[in-house]
Amino acid sequence: MLRVIFADLRKSGRLDLEAVEMATRTAMHQAGAAVLKELLQKSRSEVAREVACPCGQQARFHEMRPKQILTVLGRIYMQRAYYVCGHCHDGQSPLDWELDIEGTECSPGVRRMMALVGSDGPFEHGRRQIEELAGLDVTSKTIERHAETIGEDIARQEEAEVQRAIQLDLPEVNVADIPVMYVEMDGTGVPVVASETEGRMGKIEGQSARTREAKLGCVFTQTATDDQGRPVRDEDSTTYTGAIETAELFGRRLYAEAHHRGWNRAKRKVVIGDGAIWIWNIADEHFPTAIQIVDLYHARQHLWELSAKLFSSDPQQRLRWVKQLQQKLDAGKIESLVKTLHAFPPSSDELAKLLATESEYFARNAERMRYPKFRADHLFIGSGVIEAGCKTVIGSRLKKSGMFWTVRGANAIIALRCNRLSDKFQDYWESRRAA
Ligand SMILES: [Zn+2]
Repeated sequence: MLRVIFADLRKSGRLDLEAVEMATRTAMHQAGAAVLKELLQKSRSEVAREVACPCGQQARFHEMRPKQILTVLGRIYMQRAYYVCGHCHDGQSPLDWELDIEGTECSPGVRRMMALVGSDGPFEHGRRQIEELAGLDVTSKTIERHAETIGEDIARQEEAEVQRAIQLDLPEVNVADIPVMYVEMDGTGVPVVASETEGRMGKIEGQSARTREAKLGCVFTQTATDDQGRPVRDEDSTTYTGAIETAELFGRRLYAEAHHRGWNRAKRKVVIGDGAIWIWNIADEHFPTAIQIVDLYHARQHLWELSAKLFSSDPQQRLRWVKQLQQKLDAGKIESLVKTLHAFPPSSDELAKLLATESEYFARNAERMRYPKFRADHLFIGSGVIEAGCKTVIGSRLKKSGMFWTVRGANAIIALRCNRLSDKFQDYWESRRAA
């Protein structure tokens, strides 16, 4: 390759930098792979005759076995000792465990790259990025498999944290006092393969659901307000956690995350969500001392949607009516708002039912809609952070057209994305090294 370049240089008198740099990198990779191979062999020049077997007995050296690994420098072949236990007959290669390449043909460095591209975009897109940026040939299936394996591993670690949290076994978090800590949660549909929705009813009656709800939660802090007294979110303070799972499991997950962030050290605690009942059940169970706030914009949306039904033929009157009720809502005068809804003369049974449902929604959430008080306390009154999170964490990766997920695959990628967007990816790799 280099010879071709130099021949070209002599002929044309010009250097094609792009060709030279790429060819040089390839050559460097080849040289590096040779060094790496050498290092791996040298590090094990002495082969132990026996190693401990997990069963408690000793495993004896059996033979040297070859293994091929794809590293960031390219493919290398190595020999490593293989041991068999005479007691339980299990075999093992301790070096694989030491190098963190057990059961895989990709080095940790390559797996990290694959997790990164696989969490960012479609696996085929990731394959092209790795080819172009790292000069490595992997299949999109390999990226999918490894990204999911790492996502599942992250999810497993989190699950262990959750277990410790619910057994009140988590250490007190060592953080400075936090003026205000927020927990927000929301749900968003993830398109899934048909087998994941069998027997489940969709939103349209008689039609099976094509999506499963992923629940996403975030935790962030607020210290300052702007010059107009509005709350300002602490920069880089947002962490996410989520999965397609029941509200019960999700509640525990979110509690563990908030605890990890120092929930107990927060002077003021706030939970913000839309009106969904599961959200407030979780707030009551896991965050009982928090101020509960219904997202103002969701509440307004309820009024707009109701008005569209009540005044379908009179947009002018609709506008007047909504304005009037929105004033009550913004003023936190929910009892008065509910009274107005009750007094409205419905023109059909259907509208009467709708009015009753909406009255109930506002009455049930009245204490969560005291917006003037929340504003006076310089608190956020919208759930914009989690709504944006639903788009960036879930939507932009899992809801692209033509994508259909298994719950297992979706949860692995959600775990991976939450980890990365919470800036915990480096911690994860360090925890692997320490294991
Ligand atoms: Zn054994």
